[in-house]
Parts: sequence; C-alpha cells; structure tokens
Amino acid sequence: MRIDILTIFPGFFTSFLETGILRRALSTGVMEIHTHDLRDFTHDRHRTVDDRPFGGGEGMLLKPQPIFDCIASLGITPLPHRDTTRESVILLSPQGRVFTQPVAHTLAATERIVLICGRYEGVDERVNTLLCDRELSIGDYVLTGGELAAAVIADTVVRLLPGVLGNPDSSLHESFGADDSQAPQADDAVPRATHGSGGLLDYPQYTRPADYQGAQVPPVLTDGNHVLVRQWRRRAALEKTLRNRPDLLAKASLNKADRKLLHE
Ligand code: SAM
Repeated sequence: MRIDILTIFPGFFTSFLETGILRRALSTGVMEIHTHDLRDFTHDRHRTVDDRPFGGGEGMLLKPQPIFDCIASLGITPLPHRDTTRESVILLSPQGRVFTQPVAHTLAATERIVLICGRYEGVDERVNTLLCDRELSIGDYVLTGGELAAAVIADTVVRLLPGVLGNPDSSLHESFGADDSQAPQADDAVPRATHGSGGLLDYPQYTRPADYQGAQVPPVLTDGNHVLVRQWRRRAALEKTLRNRPDLLAKASLNKADRKLLHE
C-alpha cells in the first residue's frame, strides 16, 4: 500500500516514520509513505500556499493551485473516473465524517491513499469537491493542522496490513475488533477463543508482578484455567464498554450470555 501526504510541514513526519511498527512496515515494503511539501508546487518567490478567504473573516486558507498541481504530479485518477476502492484522495477536516476502525479497514484494503493536510482556517473548498472522494475527521475537536490526523490514519491503517502485526488476529481481539456478527452466535457462556471483540472495548490486561504495591491481579488470570480466563475477559470487556462507551453496545455482536451479564 502507498500513502502520499500533502503538507506544508513535511518535517513533522520525520520521527513518526522512523518509529516502531511503522518504520518496520516501511523497511519491509509492506507500506510506502511519501510526503510532499506543498511549497514545492508554488510559483512565486515567497512560495505562498495561502490566501485570504472571499467574503472576509479571520485567518487564511490553503489555496487550491499548489494542491491541484501536487495531486496532478502523483498520477491519481481524476474524479469521477477514480475507483475509490483502489485509490482514495482524502481531505483531513473537522467537518469530515469521523474516522473509525471500520473506515480504517476500508482504507487498508485500498492500494493507494492520498491525505491532504489543511492548515490555518482550512482549505479552499474546491479541493474537497473536485479532488477528494472522502473528507475525514479524527474526532470532534479542532487541531491546528491535518498532520496529526494524517499520522493517526497512517498509524491505524498500517497495523491492519497483512504481515505487519506478529499475530494477524491481534487486531480482531482488541477494542473495536471486527464485528463477528457473521460468525455463528455462541449461546453458551464461553465465547470461543477465535471470536474477535465483536465491537466491544478491549478487556483490562495485566503483566508481572501479580502484586504491585498491594494491588492484586485478578486471581482468575493467574490460575491457568483458560475457559475461566475467557469468561472473565468477556465480562470485563462488557463492563468496560458499558461504563465508558455504552453507545458501542447497540452495534456489538452479543450472544445470549453477554446479554444476561449486561442485565445482571
Ligand atoms: N476552520 C476549520 C473549521 O472550523 O472546521 C478548522 C480548520 S483547522 C484550524 C486547520 C486544519 O487542521 C484543517 O484544515 C484540517 O486539515 C486539520 N484539522 C483540524 N481538526 C481536525 C480534525 N478533527 N480531524 C482532521 N483534521 C483536522
């Protein structure tokens, strides 16, 4: 997969691209990330990327020309001919649809994505309407620029690419893991080990020591009974989801035992 990031601050990504799983994915060639400095696509001696908004108002906007020229240089299929399941051009914006784990799965199945980072008061809207097939927000708050949002998306997507995580099932078993509604519904009290989290938050986890400053790890986790461990984890995941994100329960894959636990 290839990601192109359009930004006026390419230096922002330097240490990000050299860190952890992302660095490994780049070095093994599972993913390519190219940053493009929008100032390289300007034509004036001040390398101007912004201009005042028509109609007045605070602040400046990224002007269309450097962004259009940069996209043209990337050989991306123009709209409306673009097959967005293969190539996607995304404007990062607080006005966009919210980026979620299912959206990350969709993007991970795409061969090429282009992320356009806004700055100042945002980006001339023609960039959105004429170049982009998606407008994504990483949450209901306003950042100073799209670079953090691009990093969030690249980091989330890379973990979903085949061969990036040691255990390919890892992403199924964590928070927002695949909705396993296609799997047969187990009505027994023991969710099968192969189930994903089914859209719940992850369960709490502990490592050594079993006693840290008097706080004990739940004994069930150290007793070695895998059935009881799975039951405990499912219950803990349900409790945590109910406490922190009850909105997720409506869409989660719950079996009879889960529903019973929730009503206890
Ligand atoms: N005037 C814009 C508004 O109120 O919607 C906010 C512009 S913001 C200060 C500058 C840039 O940061 C945006 O163009 C966008 O690229 C990025 N940005 C800010 N918040 C974001 C978010 N929640 N998700 C994605 N990008 C965001």
